[in-house]
Amino acid sequence: MANILDKITSVINEIRSWFVPEKMRYEITGKCKMCGKCCNYMYSYDTYTEKEFKIMQFFFPTYRRFYIKGRDEAGNLIFACKLVTPDGKCSVYKKRPRMCRKYPARWIGYPGKLHDGCGYKVNIKTFDDYIKKGS
Ligand code: SF4
Ligand code: SF4
Repeated sequence: MANILDKITSVINEIRSWFVPEKMRYEITGKCKMCGKCCNYMYSYDTYTEKEFKIMQFFFPTYRRFYIKGRDEAGNLIFACKLVTPDGKCSVYKKRPRMCRKYPARWIGYPGKLHDGCGYKVNIKTFDDYIKKGS
């Protein structure tokens, strides 16, 4: 019973997360160097346990391509994709999921952090930048 409730709660939280107001828009410049770091090392900001990871995969089959690679120093789960080639390329590039097409996201609720050496750059605007734009 508790298992079913966990699954229902997980789905409800996932749906609710689609409606979280995203207040900041970051400018992204640069281009992908095809190093594969983002396919080999990723986080889900609301998945902390193996059980949650499996529930997420159960309801979102697209995520079955991901596997748990380990944890960082803070204990957060780190994922990787089974479909990245050894030289860091996407083996299903033309059919990659939307989340991969949209990476790095411009609409995010917290400052984006890219991998060291990533070809993209997140340009975080300061309060003064917004004031100048509005004047
Ligand atoms: S980490 Fe950056 S440069 Fe490397 S594959 Fe991902 S988006 Fe491209
Ligand atoms: S589907 Fe392709 S682009 Fe998306 S994480 Fe896997 S290897 Fe990377």
